[in-house]
Amino acid sequence: MFAIDHAATALLIKRRYPSVSMVPLLVSVQAMELAWVALNYFGIERTTTEATVRSVADIHLVYMPYSHSVAIPIGVAAFVWLILEKGFGKVALGRAVALGIVSHLILDLATHGHDIALWPGWSGPKLGLGLYETAPLAAFVVEFVYGILCWYIYRGGTGLLALISLGNLANLSFFSPAIPGPEEYLAGRPTLLVTMIFVQIVVTLVLVGVLSADRQPNQVGRRLFARARSTR
Ligand SMILES: [Zn+2]
Repeated sequence: MFAIDHAATALLIKRRYPSVSMVPLLVSVQAMELAWVALNYFGIERTTTEATVRSVADIHLVYMPYSHSVAIPIGVAAFVWLILEKGFGKVALGRAVALGIVSHLILDLATHGHDIALWPGWSGPKLGLGLYETAPLAAFVVEFVYGILCWYIYRGGTGLLALISLGNLANLSFFSPAIPGPEEYLAGRPTLLVTMIFVQIVVTLVLVGVLSADRQPNQVGRRLFARARSTR
């Protein structure tokens, strides 16, 4: 899943755990990707591309057993939950952050090609529904609808809706070989790709964080408002 929709997941978790601040939520939903960026820079994980890149199907996340395996994010989420809830008594924070970490895994499994191992050293078939490889335009629709759904459930303002819409549309060329776009320049330049994704992560997290402050009145607010009027 692309950066904007991972970031939008923080809105869903915020709706469920309103007392938790947005910052740890935003970091948690992208913790796996931030680990992937760092491990690619250090040469521990590896990304390759075809000789020409026309869509996301030409980018191969060939080796990422630490940042994107099933076992590690679940293990890290369980560890963080244990420390925060059982160690520090921060029940909502522990659950929200653990949920954020695992959300990334679930969303990537739903969209990625077959590139997610069960655990480091796993030699069996890798997981991923394969949308990026077989039906990238379907992946685009799924991601767009998911992002809007996060906004709707959160009851965000128009700025947030515009951000999620534009953030998805900006990626359109990555989902179709027929639409030219900046992905062409990524051929043979995996470090540039990693940097581009890192910038996208930071920009989308900051903007979702800033724009999430503006919310439409929720149902509770509306009900209170109606009661205040009827007793007047
Ligand atoms: Zn990911």
